[in-house]
Amino acid sequence: MTANIAAVILAAGESRRFGRPKQLLRWEGRPLVAHLADVAWAAELSPVIVVLGAHADVVRPVLEKRPVQVLRNYRWADGMSGSVHVGLSALPPSCAGAIFIPVDQPLLTPQFLRSLVETWRRHPGSIVVPQDEVHGTKGAPVLFDRALFPELAQLSGDVGGRALFASHEAQIVYHPVREPWLLSDADTPAAFERLKAYERGLSPAQHLEGVKAVISDMDGVLWRNRTPLPGLREFFALLEERQLKYVLVTNNASKTPEQYVAKLAQMGVRTTPEHVLNSALATAAYLADRAAPGAWVYALGGPGTINALQERGFRLSAGDRADYVVASWDRDLTWNKLATATRLILEGAEFIGTNPDVTFPLETTLAPGAGSLLVTLESTTGVTPTVIGKPYPSLYRQALSRMEAVPDETLVIGDRLNTDILGGVRLGLRTALLLSGVTHAEQVPHSAIHPDVIFENLAALVAAWNGEPYA
Ligand SMILES: [Mg+2]
Repeated sequence: MTANIAAVILAAGESRRFGRPKQLLRWEGRPLVAHLADVAWAAELSPVIVVLGAHADVVRPVLEKRPVQVLRNYRWADGMSGSVHVGLSALPPSCAGAIFIPVDQPLLTPQFLRSLVETWRRHPGSIVVPQDEVHGTKGAPVLFDRALFPELAQLSGDVGGRALFASHEAQIVYHPVREPWLLSDADTPAAFERLKAYERGLSPAQHLEGVKAVISDMDGVLWRNRTPLPGLREFFALLEERQLKYVLVTNNASKTPEQYVAKLAQMGVRTTPEHVLNSALATAAYLADRAAPGAWVYALGGPGTINALQERGFRLSAGDRADYVVASWDRDLTWNKLATATRLILEGAEFIGTNPDVTFPLETTLAPGAGSLLVTLESTTGVTPTVIGKPYPSLYRQALSRMEAVPDETLVIGDRLNTDILGGVRLGLRTALLLSGVTHAEQVPHSAIHPDVIFENLAALVAAWNGEPYA
């Protein structure tokens, strides 16, 4: 769909001032080099390449289970340019550019890296250089367009890409950075400790300061099956007291907003259908923004999906023709339906999936979800679907626009790292993970996805928001 930008994490240095491998310093419960690999991955940079050198044998094992390519610069002692060469040599031809990330910038965020890519998209062919708006200083990480790769490959000695700045001034686009601390580097042990203190210094309540809008997941946050979770009523009381805008979101396309409103009413909470957004409604809205009026849709799905499409004025195809194939969770799925969807996609209908969840939870076991259907159709047609639900951006973007909210003042609350939290991280929303659903506390340090703040449940979140202790 869009051109790939790669990440090259430069982690070959000897870190003499630290007396131990800087790459392995602990940051948020994991080695620094693994942390930065996670940040680059969450930013959807691809591929993520890590160049090791001085401590390669001890550092490599900490990257083993991550989706990164680990390379080795045997000539690390000759300086930075060697690591740039090694990184460049591994970039596939499909790669339109690369961000070179020093391993000692732990405060970098996925959102920030994505914003560099956005700037590059507006200025193809450029070198994107972050510039601190307050002090005017220019810093790493820098994004180089592919056009500059041959010259980067000519560098020698202990210089990085900066060496090209003077001779390529016309190609440089400065990317303003309002939060200069983002670019801080830990080049000495004292600097590293300062950054750690900064990161630790934010209390849970501070992560909630200035939040004006909330996007909350439902299952595992508000309830589990039919049981309301602790803090449910207090949470809605807080939303009202503080006049916070909110949208309750779910990837589940099978139920209507009215059904969720009724479920909450049984739990003693009042809300309205306008506060609920599921992936079926988001899919219909996404298509309504793009399709010609009265476009034909071939839909695999239940009443939730069918109704949402009809309400937006789409004509439902019986299989003879379609502008779009929408695939969702379908209790009445048959081979014939799959065959029809396959044919229509191969004939050129655009392939859309409501949500990527591969499993559908039943009381005591799991069944195939919408995502497994997408995998089937993708493998049959060779066409990758556009997916609307979390962690893809459409659902959250629609929630933001419904509330007229901005990402930085919006909090996502969810119980799943790879959907709720990852979706929020990618859009630059604040993220709160609750441990009242599918995620256990022990899993968090092993995950590549990092929420801003973690609470046991809604009750703990409400207490922190009100500045009260939670026992
Ligand atoms: Mg959930």
